Amino acid sequence: RLQGKTALVTGSTSGIGLGIAKAFAAEGANIIINGFGEAAAIEAERAALAVLNGGKAVYDGADLTKPDEIEAMFKRADKDLGGVDILVNNAGMQFVSPVEDFPPEKWDMIIALNLTAAFHTIRHAVPGMRKKKWGRIIGTASAHSLVASPFKSAYVTAKHGLAGLTKTVALEVADAGITVNCISPGYVWTPLVENQIPDTMKARHMTREQVINDVLLAGQPTKQFVTVEQVAAIAAFLTRDEAANITGANLSVDGGWTAA
Ligand code: NAD
Repeated sequence: RLQGKTALVTGSTSGIGLGIAKAFAAEGANIIINGFGEAAAIEAERAALAVLNGGKAVYDGADLTKPDEIEAMFKRADKDLGGVDILVNNAGMQFVSPVEDFPPEKWDMIIALNLTAAFHTIRHAVPGMRKKKWGRIIGTASAHSLVASPFKSAYVTAKHGLAGLTKTVALEVADAGITVNCISPGYVWTPLVENQIPDTMKARHMTREQVINDVLLAGQPTKQFVTVEQVAAIAAFLTRDEAANITGANLSVDGGWTAA
C-alpha cells in the first residue's frame, strides 16, 4: 500500500520509532531510520526493515539537536529516495527533576530534541510534499502534551509545544493534500520509560515497584502499559486514504489517562 513512498522516522533505532518504521516497512514504504545506538545493532535493524519492505531501508545518524545535520539528512533523502512523503517526528528524551534543580543544559537539549527538531524537519519536508500534493506528518507527542506531571517541566513544555506546532502546520497545509497529526501515548514500555525509573525513585523517595504501580500506571485506568505495536498501528492508519480528513488532531492512546 505504501510502495513508492518514503518514510523518515526520527529516533527509530529503538522503542516506538522502530515499531512505527516496521509497520510502514510491512506496507512496502522505503524507510529512513535515524537515532543513536550500537552500529551492529542498528545495521541489523536496517537489514530487517529492508527484508520487510523488499526494498530500501537506509540509516541516517543525524543528531536532531543539530539543525545542519537535519538539513543534510533531507538532502540525502531527496537525492537517494525521492524525498520524504511520510515524516514521523518521534525522537525524544526525558529528564526528571524538580524545576529548581533542573539543569539548564538538559532543558535546552529536551526543547531542541523534542520540539525544535520537529520545526526543522517539517520546514524541510513541506515543500516536497506540496509538490507531490500528498504528505503525512505525524508527531509522537504524549499524554504530557495534554496534561502535566511534576518534575518533568522541560518534557511537558516541549510536548505541549509539539501539539501546538501540529495544529498550526495542519491549518497551513490543509488544502495541499498533507495531513499533520500527533499521537499521544500514555506509558509505553520502552527504554525511555525504563530509564527514568531510577531518577523517579530518587525524586519521589520510592521503590521500583512503587514507581511502576503508584506513578507510571497510577493514572492509566486500564493498568496496562500501551504497546509499541498499538502506537504504530495508529501511525499506519494515519497514512491511509481513509484518514485524509484527520488533520490537526491529537490522538490519545493512553488507557484512559487523560479522560480522568
Ligand atoms: P526510546 O528511548 O526507546 O527511543 C528514543 C529514540 O530517539 C532512540 O532511537 C534514540 O536513539 C533517539 N534519539 C535520542 N537522542 C537523539 C538525537 N539527539 N538525535 C536523533 N535521535 C535521537 O524512547 P521511546 O519511548 O520509544 O520514545 C519515542 C518517543 O515517544 C519520544 O518522543 C517520547 O517522548 C514519546 N513517548 C514515549 C512514551 C513512553 O512511555 N515510552 C510515552 C509517550 C510519548
